[in-house]
Amino acid sequence: MAEPRPGSPEAALHPPADAELPLPANAGLHYPLGAALPAPGRTLEVAPGVRWLRMGLPFALNHINLWLLRDRIDGREGWTVVDCGIDNTTTRANWEIVFAEELQGLPVLRVIVTHMHPDHIGLAHWLCERWSGEAARLGAQECRLWISATDWNAARVASSSTTGFGGEEAARFFALHGLLDAASLAGVRARAGYYASLVPQVPRRYRRLMDGQVLHIGGQPWHCIAGYGHAPEHIALHAPGLGEHGVLISGDMVLPRISTNVSVIDLEPEANPLPLFLRSVAAMRALPAQTLVLPSHGQPFTGLHTRITQLLQHHEDRLAELLQACAEAPLSAAELLPVLFRRTLDLHQTTFAMGEAIAHLHLLAEEGRLRPVRGADGVRRWRSVPDGAATSA
Ligand SMILES: [Zn+2]
Repeated sequence: MAEPRPGSPEAALHPPADAELPLPANAGLHYPLGAALPAPGRTLEVAPGVRWLRMGLPFALNHINLWLLRDRIDGREGWTVVDCGIDNTTTRANWEIVFAEELQGLPVLRVIVTHMHPDHIGLAHWLCERWSGEAARLGAQECRLWISATDWNAARVASSSTTGFGGEEAARFFALHGLLDAASLAGVRARAGYYASLVPQVPRRYRRLMDGQVLHIGGQPWHCIAGYGHAPEHIALHAPGLGEHGVLISGDMVLPRISTNVSVIDLEPEANPLPLFLRSVAAMRALPAQTLVLPSHGQPFTGLHTRITQLLQHHEDRLAELLQACAEAPLSAAELLPVLFRRTLDLHQTTFAMGEAIAHLHLLAEEGRLRPVRGADGVRRWRSVPDGAATSA
């Protein structure tokens, strides 16, 4: 079938162009807006004072959802923007339409960014600069970027360095994990400036967001919920009093039809992000089951608890498949890609898939269920530890 299993890693890497497809058959989720999508540069109201807009992305994952929250700061009426889109001419042009048509003549007062990935933070510098200029003319507060300190620093480093998303170090890291094909490695080396090409600048000043902090946006309390494993310190926003059962801007932590990418990258080669992600997602069960979830990709939905159960199960299944495969012979992350991803991957997808495979392997190794084996070829492979032997690992 062309359509990957909902929630599968291949779905994460190959989401269909959802503008043309019916909503996924996922019995546990409900989409209150049906198949409605905001047109480019336009918005749809999804809750009182909360508007949804979409920007295109030049990847298999072809769009990102952004949010406008009606706000007031120091008596000045306007909007808070949540997430920005990548920096290219199309996204800027669509923002211009939003400014002209969708803000009711009011300014953008601040920019909240859930995490440092390019589709979320790319245009933060442009939005902040533009609307700070407007504020300065009126003697009002600057339009500030609000983000976790960890992600602000990570974004600043990534936009002025070459590692993490490509370059020599990344190529060496992937080769250690068995990606030996010369064309792929050349491609990774060539992507040294990849992050900076999508995020040429990051605002030099910011306001720090932390777990448990409460923001008052348009008189409505929004609670910051830190999440780990996908980005250094992702911040989701929960407004318990908004709408019928509260609203959650989930960012990339809970998505309705694809699973969130959880990767080990060369900057932190021994990282074990998957347990962090699973714990962060499981903790969102504390929110009401009927919460309206506004995800960064896909459609607004209800069925949060069901989705959390599906995501946890999805990773349990992938872990079991890897253990099974490594019981027969030691295998590298690259050799395990066909086990996790049953389709052809392009370079961009291969690097995500490698990171994701290594994340699953590291969880199993940390639990003593896999052991690394260094082959004569210098590649790290993994062997299952038989039941009973794991405790002594
Ligand atoms: Zn992300």
